[in-house]
Amino acid sequence: MESMPYILGFDQWTHKHKDMMLISGPCSAESETQLRATTKALVATDKVDVLRAGVWKPRTRPHAFEGHGEKALQWLYNIKKDMQIPIAVEVAQPEHIDLALKYDIDILWIGARTTVNPFSVQALADALQGVKTTVLVKNPTHPEIGLWIGALERFYAAGIKRLMAVHRGFHSYHPSTYRNMPLWEIPIELKRRFPKLPLLVDPSHICGKRDTIATVSQQAMDLGMDGLMIESHYQPHNALTDAQQQLTPEDLNSLITSLKIRRQYINNLDTDYLSQMRLQIDKLDNELIRLLAQRLEIVEDIGRYKQANNIPVYQVERWRHVINNRLQEGKNQGVEEGFLLKLLQLIHKASIQRQTQL
Ligand code: PEP
Ligand code: MN
Repeated sequence: MESMPYILGFDQWTHKHKDMMLISGPCSAESETQLRATTKALVATDKVDVLRAGVWKPRTRPHAFEGHGEKALQWLYNIKKDMQIPIAVEVAQPEHIDLALKYDIDILWIGARTTVNPFSVQALADALQGVKTTVLVKNPTHPEIGLWIGALERFYAAGIKRLMAVHRGFHSYHPSTYRNMPLWEIPIELKRRFPKLPLLVDPSHICGKRDTIATVSQQAMDLGMDGLMIESHYQPHNALTDAQQQLTPEDLNSLITSLKIRRQYINNLDTDYLSQMRLQIDKLDNELIRLLAQRLEIVEDIGRYKQANNIPVYQVERWRHVINNRLQEGKNQGVEEGFLLKLLQLIHKASIQRQTQL
């Protein structure tokens, strides 16, 4: 597991819903009244493990509401004492960390706009050196898994062992029904590389609007993600930030109740069936790899022939023919065209590399 072998497994976390962790609360801490009313209703659902609230808000443009800062930390501290719920806030500067720790905040999260910047992340990691706390790292705003992993590694190296990642989608310049594109292949790859790292999904910031949050939450569960962070507010329409995407605690409760969470192993029958099918997949994958190796060997022979006869490695006509022919075959066999094209391009790239290396 690369350079973070000792991250605590998810089974070592406490969470109410036995199959996943739920963090909820307003986008921003707006007033003690708002926080109290929202938290009371969230606690009543008995489904929320951690209360979230932004006290410093990273706004895209200036002159918008930027959070109440230290004043809001005092509200959160009071609420935690009264309602016995762990609290999470976003920190973006070392001073934020000092203040959050002063007010006994349980979980610090690193926002997407911070994860993109290694200087900022390192400054936060330095401020956390020797501190025993829990850090959640949201993905960077653009789809670069290395930055996400790099931020996790910086906190890990500073001694933070209770780390979690949060998938909140990726910015796209193109119009889309999402506020941030889910690009599920990225969190899936993170999970493949760090299977013990708890990975939560933030459907609120992926969707940007209330009506699709349930669908994305279900997708997250279907993909085996470990929990959700969902924004909630006792009066969503009056919220000072992200009003379109916040749910009432009651709506959050129904959403969570309606989620279908498939446990990994239902009974022996299912595992037998699954292991048989997986055996077949293993065999087919090995066969695919054997065929690819065989193909590359022939490519190498052709490469030598081209070299000896002064023929260029790449010939556009031949490539065009290969693509058309294979896509037609793909159509006959029911293989999706976009997928096949990408695969052929990858194979072609590897073949060219083989020949140019000769
Ligand atoms: C937030 O959680 O309110 C927030 C600002 O999130 P992100 O960093 O994902 O944009
Ligand atoms: Mn928000």
